[in-house]
Amino acid sequence: ALNEDFKGAVNFLHTGERFLVVSHVNPDGDAIGSTCAVGRILEKLGKAFVLVNASKVPEKFKFLPGAQQIRSLEEAGDMEPFSRVVAVDVADAARMGEISPMLTGDAEVLNIDHHVTNDRFGAVNLVIDDAAATAEVLCHLADALGVEWDQPLAECLYTGLLTDTGGFRYSNTTHNVMELAARLLGQGVDAAEIADRAIETISRSQLALLRRALDTLAFSESGQVAWMWLTRQDFTEAEAAEDEMEGIVNYARNVAGVDVGILFRETPEGEVKVSLRSREVVDVGELAQSFGGGGHARAAGCTLTGTRKQVEEEILVRVTQRLQRGDG
Ligand code: 5GP
Ligand code: MN
Ligand code: MN
Repeated sequence: ALNEDFKGAVNFLHTGERFLVVSHVNPDGDAIGSTCAVGRILEKLGKAFVLVNASKVPEKFKFLPGAQQIRSLEEAGDMEPFSRVVAVDVADAARMGEISPMLTGDAEVLNIDHHVTNDRFGAVNLVIDDAAATAEVLCHLADALGVEWDQPLAECLYTGLLTDTGGFRYSNTTHNVMELAARLLGQGVDAAEIADRAIETISRSQLALLRRALDTLAFSESGQVAWMWLTRQDFTEAEAAEDEMEGIVNYARNVAGVDVGILFRETPEGEVKVSLRSREVVDVGELAQSFGGGGHARAAGCTLTGTRKQVEEEILVRVTQRLQRGDG
């Protein structure tokens, strides 16, 4: 069945001539790395393509080959509509943002992803939920297409693997991942430089935001749940961009004895974005999905409406229930 999925994707790419490549809003390293990687693959296949994202490319991923080519939805809206879309690292169609004005009425989507919660929204779906990153799926797709992993492509794919495994530390860091990473390094990828740019380097505003979040850190009575808040005021006073909250939730999860770490963030739209991370007990992907979001067992997110108190209580009650059940 897996081979059939690769054949479907290969056929989709071979039979089209012009593609829109898109990933999810608030893109991470896998989203940007995979978008650029698909661009590179299409270039090598001699196809026309446009890369877009509903959000701005985070500063720290602008170094990736192709990242400067990623356009906003507004910019792409003025182009001739697309009949073929490649969605990467997208669990459900809504995560791409409002791309429909860019598409023809009969547009078809190739959905390449690794989220367990992926709802198979594509006309063609290449979803491998035990892959560590969409970049891992793309390594195999490049092989299936006979596309050589040159250095720019390898840098994009390596960044996706690196960031989605938390720097090769999370439970998705498998034998396969390390073999692929080794092969990518063999193409001339500079591991230390990419790790420094994509993981280690933080901006002053990011640090200011972290400081504010840490000031709100609270624990459940059991010590198994830790959570933090970021309000609009925090973003304003830290002079931070929306994407600069990335990674902050890990400080809650990383505290000894904690299973579930949570970051509640007020969005510019007045909703509350909830980021969830867990060590081993609670399946936060399922939990987030029950609130209309999604993700993976160890990292997931959802968006709620209500007062701070309501949202906090709603989430904490459900997390506590799952912890007491002990089965995730
Ligand atoms: P983060 O907390 O970093 O925003 O997201 C963690 C993981 O959950 C990522 O894999 C992300 O794609 C997924 N995720 C976060 N928010 C949502 C959401 O609203 N819907 C879905 N389907 N996935 C989400
Ligand atoms: Mn992602
Ligand atoms: Mn991913």
